[in-house]
Amino acid sequence: MVRTEAPEDAYTAEPFVPGRGGLPALRRAAAECRGCPLHRDATQTVFGAGDEDARVMLVGEQPGDQEDRQGKPFVGPAGRLLDRALEEAGIDPAEAYVTNAVKHFKFTQAEPRKRRIHKAPNLREMTACGPWLAAELAVVEPELIVVLGATAGKALLGSSFRVTQVRGTVLEEEIHGRPERLVPTVHPSSVLRADDREAAYRGLLSDLRVAAQALG
Ligand code: SF4
Repeated sequence: MVRTEAPEDAYTAEPFVPGRGGLPALRRAAAECRGCPLHRDATQTVFGAGDEDARVMLVGEQPGDQEDRQGKPFVGPAGRLLDRALEEAGIDPAEAYVTNAVKHFKFTQAEPRKRRIHKAPNLREMTACGPWLAAELAVVEPELIVVLGATAGKALLGSSFRVTQVRGTVLEEEIHGRPERLVPTVHPSSVLRADDREAAYRGLLSDLRVAAQALG
């Protein structure tokens, strides 16, 4: 079915989300989402990846340049760093479901063929994309959500979320109508940008160890 984009004051992915069919149906439908304008400039929808039976769901902000080109989440430098930290913390990356709060890459570009610079999604775009994350949570039913950074935290826990205040703790909150346990930490890309990368990496690792312990 061909759908047109929602009017500006009503951005939402809701009409595009199928009511049944599991992750394959969600992934197919998300490829056609026009719930907000971010699909216009991005290469493709980058839906979550991983098993329906995953025990842990990792939620990041939005796809980056590499993810946008390859159509898979966390395949760029931040994803490689995350995999290393997960393994070191005792969480098998192959057993985690990884996704983003927003499924299209938002960027600025000074001129065509210039580097595309990541731009954080705004609240309206995060809210618009929420139904996809809600649908992923309903299918995967993870035992634990690892919240990667401020945008994912705001998308899941509201605009007052501050990653520095709650990182490395186990939170219990109702998310999209379901009781969830969450461990917030920083986004792995912030480790790559940090002046002291080693210290930032140790911080991420310490938070992920809390997640590993919560999983038991
Ligand atoms: S960012 Fe989300 S809501 Fe917006 S078009 Fe992409 S999938 Fe749809």
